[in-house]
Amino acid sequence: MEIQSNFSLKKHNTFGIEASAKQFVAVHSIDELKTILLANKNEKKFILGGGSNMLLTKDIDALVIHIDLKGKKIIKEDDDFVWVQSQAGETWHDFVVWTIENNFGGLENMSLIPGNVGTTPVQNIGAYGTEIKDTFVSCEAMNIATQEMKTFTNAECNFGYRESIFKNEVKDQYIITSVVFKLTKHNHKINTSYGDILAELAKNNITEPTLKDVSNAVIAIRQSKLPDPKELGNSGSFFKNPIISKSDFEKIHQKFPEMKFYEVSDTEVKVPAGWLIEQAGFKGKRFGDAGVHKNQALVLVNYGNATGQEILAVSKEVQKTVFEKFGIQIEAEVNVI
Ligand SMILES: Cc1cc2nc3c(=O)[nH]c(=O)nc-3n(C[C@H](O)[C@H](O)[C@H](O)COP(=O)(O)OP(=O)(O)OC[C@H]3O[C@@H](n4cnc5c(N)ncnc54)[C@H](O)[C@@H]3O)c2cc1C
Repeated sequence: MEIQSNFSLKKHNTFGIEASAKQFVAVHSIDELKTILLANKNEKKFILGGGSNMLLTKDIDALVIHIDLKGKKIIKEDDDFVWVQSQAGETWHDFVVWTIENNFGGLENMSLIPGNVGTTPVQNIGAYGTEIKDTFVSCEAMNIATQEMKTFTNAECNFGYRESIFKNEVKDQYIITSVVFKLTKHNHKINTSYGDILAELAKNNITEPTLKDVSNAVIAIRQSKLPDPKELGNSGSFFKNPIISKSDFEKIHQKFPEMKFYEVSDTEVKVPAGWLIEQAGFKGKRFGDAGVHKNQALVLVNYGNATGQEILAVSKEVQKTVFEKFGIQIEAEVNVI
């Protein structure tokens, strides 16, 4: 375990932003994590997974701890379900592929989301009608100040839309070290109702999809819509879809009857932020090396050498214009550092 100084984070963030860490260390076990935390009690710390949900707007004046704990296993099963545990540093998509190869159902709609397993509870990742909270049982986490381990159950995580206790009540207090999911062994709940999954399956004449078919469909759709961070720096959806009260929505909808929306409760609706941004004229707009993706207005991109500050400036301009046009505030989903 080597602590490196002035470490470049360019390869550790999917935006490909050049920023450095005052110090950087990768940890591969709970013991290493404990040792590092104990030996650096008074240092500021920053936890890094796959770097796919952050915009670095400055150098990080802290000890960056890259969580690289590996391993996955079945910890319990009954006739219908299996409980699988993954260490935090496993790559999420590889873990999903492993569950599908074993015919364990529940994660297939979240294929190809970048990042690590340990970060998935932080923002309750989700895609194509499924969220982590639907299969998440618990996670183990180390208290940064005391090094004590704590188990957080699903209920204790306070999951919401791209929200959890780790972004709120206990922000910056815990490092998630492993996660347990409860998956189906048969009678899988195949969910093809969202987005273009059904159309993608139909293209391949699939009427009774397996877990793998759904995963392949999701992968094909994602690859056709989202830029690959290896080719064009980005952090996926930069903004959350705003949730607004029905009464506010009705007033706005009268002015913009073509506005898309989904009911989320009796009193609230969700509006697609991508649609708002597109209508505000930003889709495909480029400002130097920073810009809004040409096919997916929700995604901000780095065309090469944009700084985090330049991308942040574009995000602010987008937020301001959307608010001026529609009176709706859109919030960043990405962690701005
Ligand atoms: C092309 C693309 C597509 C994407 N699509 C989706 C999508 O469909 N749905 C979706 O929900 N997200 C999506 N994302 C966002 C991102 O993939 C997820 O948020 C992912 O879970 C982030 O994981 P990470 O390991 O890269 O996190 P990082 O960016 O490394 O960290 C994110 C935050 O979590 C903290 N953190 C990291 N590891 C830990 C830990 N072990 N314990 C505690 N805190 C920690 C960090 O300090 C930081 O604040 C996409 C991103 C990209 C680039």
